[in-house]
Amino acid sequence: MPVKIAVLKETRPNETRVAMVPAVADKLAKLGAEVHIQSGAGAAVKLPDTAFKSAKFTDDVGALVRDADVVVSVQPPDAAMVSEMRPGAILICFVYAHREVELTRLLRDRRITTFAMELVPRITRAQAMDALSSQATLAGYYAVLLGAIHLDRILPMMTTAVGSIRPARTLVMGLGVAGLQALATARRLGAMTEGYDVRPETKEQAESLGAKFVDTGVDARGSGGYARELTQEEKDKIAAVVTKHIQQSDIIVTTAAIPGRPSPKLISKAQVDGMKAGSVIVDLAAEGGGNCEYTEPGKTVQVGQVTVLGPLNVPSMLGEHASELYAKNQFNLIELFLKEQQIKLDWSDEIIAKTALTHDGKVVNEAAQKVVG
Ligand code: NAD
Repeated sequence: MPVKIAVLKETRPNETRVAMVPAVADKLAKLGAEVHIQSGAGAAVKLPDTAFKSAKFTDDVGALVRDADVVVSVQPPDAAMVSEMRPGAILICFVYAHREVELTRLLRDRRITTFAMELVPRITRAQAMDALSSQATLAGYYAVLLGAIHLDRILPMMTTAVGSIRPARTLVMGLGVAGLQALATARRLGAMTEGYDVRPETKEQAESLGAKFVDTGVDARGSGGYARELTQEEKDKIAAVVTKHIQQSDIIVTTAAIPGRPSPKLISKAQVDGMKAGSVIVDLAAEGGGNCEYTEPGKTVQVGQVTVLGPLNVPSMLGEHASELYAKNQFNLIELFLKEQQIKLDWSDEIIAKTALTHDGKVVNEAAQKVVG
């Protein structure tokens, strides 16, 4: 029997992405898998069912997942869907177990092998499977565009018959994947760019993108290439340097995150109150509560003369490319265990072991175990 891969239509609000695109369905078919897709799964990104030449479509979701070997989606499926899956089947999607405690318990108890896309290790070999990076890249790009359209100014320098317009200043706070892409995008649009992070290695990365690095002298490198939380003393030291840069910016993009923690607050109300009239903050960390004290997740708020955007699920605003990259990330993961038309999970492979959330009736990720029990 060929391996059956089922693709779900997303149901969560504001989710436009789809976990399968025609090119990936073709590649899976070449590996001998059968791809079955819920009808209309790509509708939100204007991808009609007819665009898929090597997949079958159905409206019957129960039948779709009941005998599937692998179920793929972007967001975690609802409990009813998991209950339809057969024990031992594989689910691949973003989960974030700390936000999905009940669902994770159900996945464990239903003996589903869950690969959570947010757990793909940040190692070179896994780069092509790293959906956090592919989606963050798009979000970083789009954050600058969102900022630009909320600004009553232009970004590039412009020389006109009535004089020159100075380029806008863009400050990006948090120079991970999204932040570096935001710096690159703002620069391409002609803005003057500055970047800031608490990991000193980002200085060189920012400079290579033509940005100035705001050096605060604080080194908050944590484990695994991520940042750690700051002490109050460090926060004060940073504020003394960063306030001036915040207050002379036209657009600020914030992206700072610490794994498993609420978003660190990088911009205080007092700092916003001192910003230039008309400037814009795009807070990409809104999902985790936001980097700015004024951010309201999912809303655009006017604070005096400053606009603060807290967009949620930014990759969905670029659903077509976000789906394409996500589907390719998942394909590269599936390719690891789809061998000779059979599923062979090699638990000695670091990517398989670290991406697994539940397997064989257990929560196998240590951090999730602590939350889920
Ligand atoms: P992230 O989303 O966890 O955080 C975004 C940025 O916020 C990080 O650069 C972090 O240092 C910064 N930050 C946290 N607290 C801050 C604070 N108080 N002030 C200012 N900045 C703060 O980051 P990410 O984009 O997921 O990337 C995390 C790391 O993983 C980076 O080092 C990145 O280069 C690395 N990475 C490696 C690979 C790979 O090798 N395969 C793939 C992707 C990312």
